[in-house]
Amino acid sequence: MRYTVSKKLSFEAAHRLLKDYAGKCSNNHGHSWVVEIEIEAANLDNKGMVLDFNELKKLKQWIDDTLDHTTILWEKDPMCEYIKNTGQRLYVTKENPTSEVIARIIFEKAEELFGNETIKVSSVAVHETCTSKATYKR
Ligand SMILES: [Zn+2]
Repeated sequence: MRYTVSKKLSFEAAHRLLKDYAGKCSNNHGHSWVVEIEIEAANLDNKGMVLDFNELKKLKQWIDDTLDHTTILWEKDPMCEYIKNTGQRLYVTKENPTSEVIARIIFEKAEELFGNETIKVSSVAVHETCTSKATYKR
């Protein structure tokens, strides 16, 4: 048996998919991304918690500093150069910046922030639209 807590966070960002991809998502476009993180523990801490919800603000801060109001692009996307040269916010990925890839990046950051002997990140889901989400899970 184990306990889980989850939290929804959101950010605004543009992206486009270029690598081996020719569909409409190859056009630069934006989303109001919704991130749902779930954290688990077999046992509660002395306060009776998996993790204080307040602690999750650290992930919110990282998302605000790193992803919010950026353009998220594959490292070989020629638009990277323009975004950089015009002083706009850019986040570069090694693969296509799909919801799946963004979910994994946020999962890895969350593990770094919260993971320890007892607390594990169980999943990070990234909603690109109200009806489409991708999940990276343990
Ligand atoms: Zn998209």
